[in-house]
Amino acid sequence: MTAMPPDPRTTGSLGTGAAAAGAAAEGDARAAGDAGDPHLDRYAARTAGMTASEIRALFAVASRPEVVSLAGGMPNLAALPLESLSVEVAGLVAAEGQSALQYGSAQGVPVLREQIGDVMAFEAGSLGATGGFAPDDVVVTVGSQSALDMLTRLFVDPGDVVLAESPSYVGALGSFAAYQAEVRHVAMDDDGLIPAALDEALQRLAREGRRAKFLYTVPNFHNPVGVSLAADRRPEIVELCRRHGVLIVEDNPYGLLGFDGQTYPSLRSMDPENVVYLGSFSKIFASGLRVGWALAPHGIRDKLVLAAESATLCPPAFTQLVVSRYLATHDWRSLVKSFREMYRERCEAMLGALETHLPDGCRWTRPQGGFFVWATVPEGVDTRAMLPRAVTARVAYASGTGFHADGSGSRHMRLSFCYPPPERITEGVRRLAGVLDGELDL
Ligand code: PMP
Repeated sequence: MTAMPPDPRTTGSLGTGAAAAGAAAEGDARAAGDAGDPHLDRYAARTAGMTASEIRALFAVASRPEVVSLAGGMPNLAALPLESLSVEVAGLVAAEGQSALQYGSAQGVPVLREQIGDVMAFEAGSLGATGGFAPDDVVVTVGSQSALDMLTRLFVDPGDVVLAESPSYVGALGSFAAYQAEVRHVAMDDDGLIPAALDEALQRLAREGRRAKFLYTVPNFHNPVGVSLAADRRPEIVELCRRHGVLIVEDNPYGLLGFDGQTYPSLRSMDPENVVYLGSFSKIFASGLRVGWALAPHGIRDKLVLAAESATLCPPAFTQLVVSRYLATHDWRSLVKSFREMYRERCEAMLGALETHLPDGCRWTRPQGGFFVWATVPEGVDTRAMLPRAVTARVAYASGTGFHADGSGSRHMRLSFCYPPPERITEGVRRLAGVLDGELDL
């Protein structure tokens, strides 16, 4: 019962409905069933990648109060100062309603683009470690999810290769599938993406006469694995991508949520011209406002602005100005620190319960930040098949299959510690252990 790295391996395939299955784990009830749809023969070919989740129904069940859900990735908003926020929102409408309720710039509200520099500086410790910052390099997005969608739209033609960690964030896999990318997973271990595995994937592509459109990576407090890319691997990853002419998409929504406040130099700081950096206010402030940002080389920035115009005309001015007011009027740095403490406490509860209750032969990661633990179960247990039995036992998790483009990963599960209080987490893990014991007895 010791903490172990996820299974290192490399797989390659077209995206499938597995991504959508995991999207349900993110609380996304987007996909609809095809049965009886009279428009079925009209949809574009690319919608084949947007398959419905066979476990979505289970997640509806999982949201029942008696079920402990370790499945979703929802940030815990309990610490938000709702009273003072409502004063600010009312003040915004009263004082700036004419602009806050109007269309805005497709690149984002200028004042917020300035303030994003403060957020990045807080993470980096100094502006230098972000690779330099200019408000003009920033495109405000509707959460980083819309940045992922737009980047994939900009770069991926059907069949193009995207490299992504194994496993990978389900929402990104969903975007890649929607644009018919061929996802090739690259192995990780406890120190994040393995440079030798990336090298091998890049060389294999070169032998095939192909080149990946980009490497998608979550270097800090990875979703779903929970580990961070070791500092000494970062320049290596950046150098490999540069050498092979492969762009890096660095997705960093959890970077400020290291339990000890530990942060890492961004990949962007090592090669600003070859990295698109994505940030988000979802985990450090309010996911419902849907405000994130992309920091991109100028050519890509301009294309992102065009993509935003055709998708939504502009990101909502109102929510951007709410974020801007929050940053200007609240001690957001202290609030981020209190989030870190809250998540640390929940993570400790989960790790302690896993140690106490999980049967022999299970392994799991030991996150230093973020929201997730990645657990590996003994051979013979299939986490996707087990999920209905877990829900009957009143606990839910996200099966590892949702985090692989080819639907593999059935010996893994993602356990989220972000949302339930510590005592519920402990109870949830105890129930999960009971279900696993039952599987192993079969
Ligand atoms: N990237 C990762 C790695 C995530 O975990 C999430 C949220 N679950 C997102 C992007 C999307 O975040 P946002 O709310 O900013 O769209």
